[in-house]
Amino acid sequence: MARIITQHAYLLLWQQGFLLFHTGIANLSPMKTLHLSRPCILCDDACQSAHCLCDACLKELPYLSSACASCGLPIETSTHSDICGACLASPPLRLKPDQQQGKCISVLHYDSPVDYLIKRMKYHNQLSIAQLLGQLIANKIKQTAYPLPSEIIPVPLHTRRLQQRGYNQAAEIAKAITQVLDIPLNLHICKRVKSTTPQFDLPASERVSNIKNAFALSTQLQSKHLALVDDVMTTGSTVWELASTLLQAGAIQVDIWVCARASTN
Ligand SMILES: [Zn+2]
Ligand SMILES: [Zn+2]
Repeated sequence: MARIITQHAYLLLWQQGFLLFHTGIANLSPMKTLHLSRPCILCDDACQSAHCLCDACLKELPYLSSACASCGLPIETSTHSDICGACLASPPLRLKPDQQQGKCISVLHYDSPVDYLIKRMKYHNQLSIAQLLGQLIANKIKQTAYPLPSEIIPVPLHTRRLQQRGYNQAAEIAKAITQVLDIPLNLHICKRVKSTTPQFDLPASERVSNIKNAFALSTQLQSKHLALVDDVMTTGSTVWELASTLLQAGAIQVDIWVCARASTN
């Protein structure tokens, strides 16, 4: 019986991509930690660490080392400001006097193999990738001195797309972030009320109008400091539309946390 339970527990771990397993059943001592070796999603080598990528592939991801704190695009490390010239000249969000400019945190360049990982996560149920990407975001945030928000809001999918896919990848990433940073996740305050054409299918010039008025809130926000979470930021139209909606509803600051930033606006 104990053997069957052990096999079942292993299967569960492989399916869900959990990294650590604490249990008192199946002849394991309480709080014992299991590390399971599984193939790396990118190179098929065995993963020695608790991630879905081997240590070598994890190390070689295209990390974004220096980026504008407003739009997330790469910025010269020699500049004195953490805001790029374009954002200084024209901030992406219009703020009231009592509102603060949110911080944009992006971890990776949207480049190979990140595009492959995002597609596997988004369209092939590989949610262990969301777990890893969420941890990378959380670790980067821990390295900053930025004040933390009181709640995290994943960019919602329209109900129809959520039903087709079965999960919202942004919510899965956000769940992994909350596990590290211990900030509550708010999955219910915001809905996507407009079924939009996928932004990737549109030229940059049409993305702003496509996403306009796509989100609706169920309540006012009473000076809350919030963070939005999404997988990829390309032109920024989606996250800035949602951030604007939150600011109009009374949020005092909206940070934007994304896994990957495309390098062209
Ligand atoms: Zn690998
Ligand atoms: Zn900028």
